[in-house]
Amino acid sequence: DAPAVSNFIRNIIDDDNRTGKWGGRVETRFPPEPNGYLHIGHAKSICLNFSVAGDYGGVCHLRFDDTNPEKEDVEYVNSIIDAVTWLGFEWKKADDDREYLFYASDYYDKLYAFAELLIQRGKAYVDSQSPDEMRANRGSATEPGKNSPFRDRSVDDNLDLFRRMKAGEFKEGEHVLRAKIDMASPNFNMRDPVIYRIRFAHHYRTGDQWCVYPMYDYTHCISDALENITHSLCTLEFEDHRPLYDWILEELADAGVFTRPLPQQIEFSRLNLTYAITSKRKLLQLVTEGHVDGWDDPRMPTIVGVRRRGFTPDGIKLFCERIGVTKVDSWIDMSVFEGALRDDLDDKAPRTAAVLDPLKLIIDNYPADLTEECEAPVHPHHPERGMRKFPISRELWIERDDFTETPPKGYFRLFPGNKVRLRYGYVIECTGVDKDENGNVSAVHCNYYPDSKSGTEGANNYKVKGNIHWVSAAHAVPAEVRIYDRLFKEPQPDAGGRDFLEALNPDSKRVAHAYLEPGAGDAQPEERFQFERHGYFVADRYDTKPGKPVFNRIVGLRDTWGK
Ligand code: ATP
Ligand code: MG
Ligand code: MG
Repeated sequence: DAPAVSNFIRNIIDDDNRTGKWGGRVETRFPPEPNGYLHIGHAKSICLNFSVAGDYGGVCHLRFDDTNPEKEDVEYVNSIIDAVTWLGFEWKKADDDREYLFYASDYYDKLYAFAELLIQRGKAYVDSQSPDEMRANRGSATEPGKNSPFRDRSVDDNLDLFRRMKAGEFKEGEHVLRAKIDMASPNFNMRDPVIYRIRFAHHYRTGDQWCVYPMYDYTHCISDALENITHSLCTLEFEDHRPLYDWILEELADAGVFTRPLPQQIEFSRLNLTYAITSKRKLLQLVTEGHVDGWDDPRMPTIVGVRRRGFTPDGIKLFCERIGVTKVDSWIDMSVFEGALRDDLDDKAPRTAAVLDPLKLIIDNYPADLTEECEAPVHPHHPERGMRKFPISRELWIERDDFTETPPKGYFRLFPGNKVRLRYGYVIECTGVDKDENGNVSAVHCNYYPDSKSGTEGANNYKVKGNIHWVSAAHAVPAEVRIYDRLFKEPQPDAGGRDFLEALNPDSKRVAHAYLEPGAGDAQPEERFQFERHGYFVADRYDTKPGKPVFNRIVGLRDTWGK
C-alpha cells in the first residue's frame, strides 16, 4: 500500500522492501517504561510506530520496558494500555487475533543466559571497582578511560562472581557486569558499559525473584531481536547508543543466538511542544506539589489530561501527521496542536448555545405566558444532521459582554437604542437597563419585533449588524463550565534550566456558572459541542451526571493566545 505521508523512515522501509531485506516484513514496537503516565510526546512515537507498521501490513508491538524495579508499577501499565487503546491503535495484525503485547521482564531468564554467554566468549566481565572508581576511570571527552584492574579476570572467575551476584551474595554496588568493548572509544557508551547491576528491589511483576537487573541498553536491543523487530524507532538522544545496540546484537549473532539481519535502530526527533512540558519527572512534580488537579487535569499534556480536556484521537493523529518525522529537533508551537484539534472538531461537533457570563435580558413587549420554539441547524455545513429546537420566552440570558451602555466605535452588539438579532430568534431593540445598589447593570430591557423571527418572511425586512446568542431563562440548564487556558505563560517553560514553576499561568483555570441550551443538558460524558461564538467544549468524563453536565473548554474558536 502507498503510505499516506512519506518520510525518511518510510523511505528506509521502501528500500528494504526493494532489496528484500526483511522479505517484506515490517515490525515495529512502542516501548514505554511503566514509570509514569504517557504524554503528548509519546503520542508522536505511538502514532509513528503504529501507523508505519499498519500502512505496510505489519504489526506494532506494545512492549513494557520494565527493568527499573523501583519506579515501575502496574498502575502505569494499565494507564498506558488505556492510552494506546484510546488513541485507536491495536497491537495486532490486521488478519489475526494474536496480541503483540510484551514485557521486557519476561525476558529476564534469557537476558541472564545471554550475559553468561558473553562472559564465556570473553565479551563481558565482573567489575569490582567502587562506583567512584568507575566514574574516575571513565575518562572525559578529551581523555580516554582507564581499564579496570578487574578487566582481565578469567572466564571462570567472572562466571562464578556473576552467579553469586544473582544468588544474592553481594551488596548493591559491590560488583557490576560490564561489556568488554573499548575504554578508549570516543563514544562513552562504548567504554565498557554496565549491563547488569545488583538491586535488592521488589519488581511489580517478578517480585523478589531477581536481585540483578539488566540495564536499558542491554535489554532493549535484545528485546527487539527476540521479538523479530525490523525497524526500532527511537528518539535522537539514542543516536550515540546505536553502536552499543549493534555491538550487543552482533556479538549474540556471532554466538549463534540471533540470525541476521538484525533489527535496525533508527532515530527521529522528539516532540517539544511550546507552553507544555514533556518530562515525566516534571509532570510528576506538578501533580505531587498540587499545581494541577492530578495526572488527568485537563491542563496537563498527558494523554489522560488531553483526553479529559476533550481532545480527540483523530485530532491528535492529524497533529502528528502535520508535524511529520524528521532528524532535526525543534519546537512545535502549541497553536499547531490546537489548530489540528479545531480542524477535527469543526466538522464533528454539533452546535449549541451557551451563555458563560449571564446577564438577564427582559423583552418587555413579549407576553409573559408565551413560549415559542426556535430552530437552528445542528451543524451549518451538514444539513443532513437536521435541526435543533429550543424555546424562547420573555426572559433570556445573554452574554454580559454583548451589552454595553457606552459603545466604543464599531460595537454592533446591544446598547440602548440599538437593534440586534437574537440568533435564530427575533430582532430586538434595547430600551434601558436596571441597576443594582452598586450601579452595576443587573438586567437589560428591550422590545421585540414580532414579525422578525428568523426563518419567516418578515425576517428579511430587518437589517441589523449585531447577532447575539441567548438562552431562555426559564428553560436553560445551569452548568459548571471550566475555562482552561495554557498551563504556562512562557513558550519554553523549562528552557535553560529555568524553574518551570515560575512560568505557571495563574489564569489557566476559571470556573463559570453558565446557562446552556436545554438540549445540552443531556450531554453524555465525553460528548463534545461547539458552543456558538465561544469554542469547543466537552462534557467532563467524570463529573458529568445525568441531566447535570459539567463542561471543559477544549479550545477557543480561533487562536487568540497573546492577542
Ligand atoms: P521521560 O524521559 O519523560 O521519562 P521517556 O522517553 O524515558 O520519557 P519512555 O517510556 O521510555 O519515556 O518512552 C517510550 C517511547 O516514547 C520511547 O521510544 C521514546 O523515545 C518515546 N518518546 C518519549 N518522549 C518523546 C517525545 N517527546 N517525542 C517523541 N517520542 C518520545
Ligand atoms: Mg525511557
Ligand atoms: Mg527517560
